[in-house]
Amino acid sequence: MNPNIESHRSDWHTEPVEEVLEAFESSASGLSSEEARRRLDRYGPNTLPRVGGPGIWSLAWRQINDPLIYVLLASAVLALVMGKVVDGLVVLGVVILNMIIGFVQEYRAGKAIEALIDLVPNTAATLRNGTQVNLPAAELVPGDIVLLQSGDKAPADMRLLSVRNLLVQEAALTGESVAVSKGTAQAPAEAALGDRTNMVYSGTLVTSGVGRAVVVGTGAHTELGRISDMLREATDIETPLTRQIAKVGKALTVGISLVAVLLLLVGLVRGFGLVDAVLAGITLAVAAIPEGLPAIITIALAIGVQRMARRRSIIRKLPAVETLGSTTVICSDKTGTLTRGEMTVQALWAPQPGPARLTGIGYEPEGRLETSGREGANDSPGRYETLLRAGVLCNDASVGHEENQWTVSGDPTEGALIVAAEKTGIRAEETRRSWKRLDAVPFESERQYMASLHHAPEGDSTLYIKGAPEVIIGRIDPTSLGADLSARSVHEEVERLASQGMRVLAFAEKRVPASQGRIEDADLSGGFTLLGLQAMIDPPREEAVASVQACRRAGINVKMITGDHRLTAQAIGRQLGLLDESDRVYVGEEIEAMSDEELREAARCTGVFARVAPEHKLRLVRALQAEGQVVAMTGDGVNDAPALKQADIGVAMGITGTAVSKESADMVLADDNFASIAAAVEEGRRVYDNLIKSLAFVLPTNIGEALIILIAVMFAPIVGGHPLMPMEPVQILWINLVATVALALPLAFETMEPGLMDRRPRDPAKPILSPFVLFRTILVAVLMATGAILLFLYEYHNQLAEGVPLATALIQAQTVAVTTVILFQIFYLIQCRSLRDSVFRIGLFSNKYIYVGIAALLILQAAFIYVPFMNTLFGSAPLTAEALLKSLLASLIVLPVISFEKWLRQRRYAGRLEAKNPVPAVLENCADNPTSAEEKRQYDMATHE
Ligand code: ATP
Repeated sequence: MNPNIESHRSDWHTEPVEEVLEAFESSASGLSSEEARRRLDRYGPNTLPRVGGPGIWSLAWRQINDPLIYVLLASAVLALVMGKVVDGLVVLGVVILNMIIGFVQEYRAGKAIEALIDLVPNTAATLRNGTQVNLPAAELVPGDIVLLQSGDKAPADMRLLSVRNLLVQEAALTGESVAVSKGTAQAPAEAALGDRTNMVYSGTLVTSGVGRAVVVGTGAHTELGRISDMLREATDIETPLTRQIAKVGKALTVGISLVAVLLLLVGLVRGFGLVDAVLAGITLAVAAIPEGLPAIITIALAIGVQRMARRRSIIRKLPAVETLGSTTVICSDKTGTLTRGEMTVQALWAPQPGPARLTGIGYEPEGRLETSGREGANDSPGRYETLLRAGVLCNDASVGHEENQWTVSGDPTEGALIVAAEKTGIRAEETRRSWKRLDAVPFESERQYMASLHHAPEGDSTLYIKGAPEVIIGRIDPTSLGADLSARSVHEEVERLASQGMRVLAFAEKRVPASQGRIEDADLSGGFTLLGLQAMIDPPREEAVASVQACRRAGINVKMITGDHRLTAQAIGRQLGLLDESDRVYVGEEIEAMSDEELREAARCTGVFARVAPEHKLRLVRALQAEGQVVAMTGDGVNDAPALKQADIGVAMGITGTAVSKESADMVLADDNFASIAAAVEEGRRVYDNLIKSLAFVLPTNIGEALIILIAVMFAPIVGGHPLMPMEPVQILWINLVATVALALPLAFETMEPGLMDRRPRDPAKPILSPFVLFRTILVAVLMATGAILLFLYEYHNQLAEGVPLATALIQAQTVAVTTVILFQIFYLIQCRSLRDSVFRIGLFSNKYIYVGIAALLILQAAFIYVPFMNTLFGSAPLTAEALLKSLLASLIVLPVISFEKWLRQRRYAGRLEAKNPVPAVLENCADNPTSAEEKRQYDMATHE
């Protein structure tokens, strides 16, 4: 290839197709693998340098730009100015350490989330050595021929060679969201990007039609590459929850600052020196502000995202992690998600002469078509063959046959048709060679049919059409059915097969003049002759049945939304446990005819919707949301994108989904499996639990510390000109510095609570500072402050009584108080590992990080007590075994108190839990499940603190 022409030129739209192919030394059949490899070496992979996420500086700035930090920094400066160097430096230490931890965690979380992008496969249908292969988009090289179809994201810059109704949405480049119609005609040199209708640019989306194009630019040499700054995909680590917590943080800061100033004044009034009073105020601020919280939240979310990825759910938008925990309805596709997506043709039916049916195509790979199930007397030998041949020709899939196993590439529905034909001795490849395809209209869910035009060996041309029976039968010439058959009897046959849970496809043909090389729209409207029906099973996934049950226990309604026939959907719905015998199934047409009000009622109480088109999905999501539901909706096609965007959680299919659907989704299922959604919900709930646990740990301990200062400033006697404080400010800072970090962070790793999926979904409107968190905060803070102050006083007076000098007694007693608080935090941490259960139920050692944190803290505290340098720095002193034991006993009190509190709460709501669990199949307010608002509230209180 002439290196001067290739990728740097950007005016390929001005050249005729032949010139472009020539310039790239390519042809309509694509490149050879060797040539492609050579070009890959030379031009590099078709990828863009990633510039994702916030930059390092903005991340660092985010750590500083926080009112909490401002207050702390101001406090540090104030302390330094007032000559309290150690105090000032320790405050600074707290701030800097927290900033470093916050920065590192957020950076790592950002990277982890960024890495998820690579988990969503990005492939391109390419011609290599004359055959179509699916390649990772990164392997494309200039000169490759790419086949585009609706739903694809263009993998490179390309010049179109041929098109059929190709519409491309170029918003990624031009900002224009209306799709542009594409063609092959040359465009003038001065045409702007949006007007170059013979080009398809990397990153744009094919919204309908098909096309064939030659790659003219890859990687950085694409239009997208040139403006790659626009690609800066915001891996935003903000979510509604983090925003809510940030708000709480701000309110706390304002409140704490006010209290600190008040305290300063109280200190002055009580006769503290100015320095002592200011320091008391500063200490209160530092003690009460939960500096570590943002880092903990970020890491909990990032861990959640990673665990979900391991369970085959790839989060694309971080807020989804939280929303998953409150999902109340999952609307799922059927094929491949709830079912295995492995189709096997089980029955054939051909109409002439006289109705006849053929069943029993076995699973065995080399089996012949069995004739045992044949009904009807006068079969003509060729008619099943014609039906099966139509299935092979009007078909874009291909199958291989290895080690007794059929492997399908392409649509499994179409793969099944080939396998059925092969089993009966029809060789697909041979047939396709002798019936050369001239043109095709690929299958699309909205149309529900596919058509292909073939040059018959005898010389004329045949147009085949296959698709949903209603659609095909409507195009049949009634006279071609013969005297003893009507469209109605064909429908009856369809219903008979569909009610066994089978997907039924109808086939028809039409002769056209041999000279015709293209399918015209008018050809498709009617005049076909029915060839017959092929019916295939696609059994439910075993794990889907279990997951549907699990979701139901978790108070989540599962609804199946399928493009299939009503009766097929009904049969499968029953097998999956989504429907009872009496439940009705609505079809798309009925949805269309309903008012919004009626649809809300139907959406609430129906488990299965059939023959649904994408626009119905959008209405369904809206109807459910209007009912106050939090909706997760799956989708794979281009036209599912609006429904995916509208849903609270849009879920795209990683394997079979179009690029367009993945772009609009919040989450992508790596294995297309319904069970992965249920797993993601479980993880979502766990993340939320862990956040609440962190909050329930951090807030009480911080407020407890602040309470100690508060009480001391208000009531401590003044001895020798100084208030008798149970802890020096610098000691409070020490606790804050070591304990929050070492202890709270491991809570983000906490495992799942028992019964996690037996609760109802969390109400997303509920404030994070729930009555439970507030109650706990007060209880624990008071307990901790009382314990520490009483023990301090006891120790202080004890020491004095033993004749120890005043200053030494104070240091001893303060060290005891600090140690008590630290030990208290350790025991409380163990209690926080489960919100409502005893830690023994969740397994004492199920989270090893907790013990790593505790061990680290104990070592640090030992240093605080026994290392002389630390004694000088923090005003601490070595303790006797007896003093240590007293601290231990005082701090232990938190274990029985919190256990008792948990027990009380469990007992109070136990009756309610039993009464409402498991939650029934249909939503509340459906006729057979009247749940009162009060009952719901009670239940929620029992299950969600
Ligand atoms: P689900 O929504 O459950 O995942 P689906 O998306 O696979 O189902 P569609 O693909 O929209 O459903 O199929 C709808 C109907 O179109 C099917 O019931 C079938 O009759 C017909 N059909 C499916 N695949 C093809 C195909 N490849 N060619 C022709 N008709 C098809």
